[in-house]
Amino acid sequence: MFRLHRPAGPGGPGYAFTDRVGGSGPVGLTLGGAATHGVETVRRDGRAVLAAIGVERLYTPWQVHGTDVLTIDDAALSGWSADAWLGSAVPGQPASPQADALVTDRPGVALLIRTADCLPVIFVDETARAVGVAHAGRVGLAAGVLTRTVEALAALGATAPTAVIGPAICGSCYEVPGEMRDAVAAGLPGAAATTSWGTPALDLPGAARQQLLGLGCRVEQVAACTREDPLLHSYRRDGARMGSLGALVWLAPRVGGAIPATAAPGR
Ligand SMILES: [Zn+2]
Repeated sequence: MFRLHRPAGPGGPGYAFTDRVGGSGPVGLTLGGAATHGVETVRRDGRAVLAAIGVERLYTPWQVHGTDVLTIDDAALSGWSADAWLGSAVPGQPASPQADALVTDRPGVALLIRTADCLPVIFVDETARAVGVAHAGRVGLAAGVLTRTVEALAALGATAPTAVIGPAICGSCYEVPGEMRDAVAAGLPGAAATTSWGTPALDLPGAARQQLLGLGCRVEQVAACTREDPLLHSYRRDGARMGSLGALVWLAPRVGGAIPATAAPGR
């Protein structure tokens, strides 16, 4: 179910990147693509992931390869329902708000970004108790979605977030036309690459790493290429019938609103 799962301590941040292991449908675990895989499949898989991370609420936007960041505050959560994250895939339910990044300082809600080759980036700031997640494909990365996310986190008090780059298509696999590589690399240092078969390519994880370091983030990375690893979903490999990987981040509730009396259980 998880490529990486970092559980939250009391009051702290937790995060996870899903893979396709398990799940209730033929493509394996998928947190998106309800129109292709069926809303019931995606709903079941989402519930299984929430149960595994121990969080009740899930929030995900309608991703549009833009740079808008939603701050999930009490107002954003006021109309929340268990199916809200499925958006208009549920008959009669409105579409989710359009955005490509989410931040929050509220406990008990998992923020979800869905990808299959594009770059998911999770942000945590333990001191400020603020977390975020961004969808950074070629277009969003070049347009500054990571910068906008770090700015939104700063508004929540985060001064030095840790950024965790999740599974994405690597620079040896993401083939693009030569003119596109040159145009993107002109604005994104570190993006120019060559495929393992010798054609022009883009290294989005590499470019994101450089950008995040420049923004003052500490950067960690999950070393996995979606196209090469059959246990991950990849649009380039699987086409439109791909499933969706999830990048989730959340804050656990503080225990009783105070320092727990049993801070060192079992010792
Ligand atoms: Zn690769």
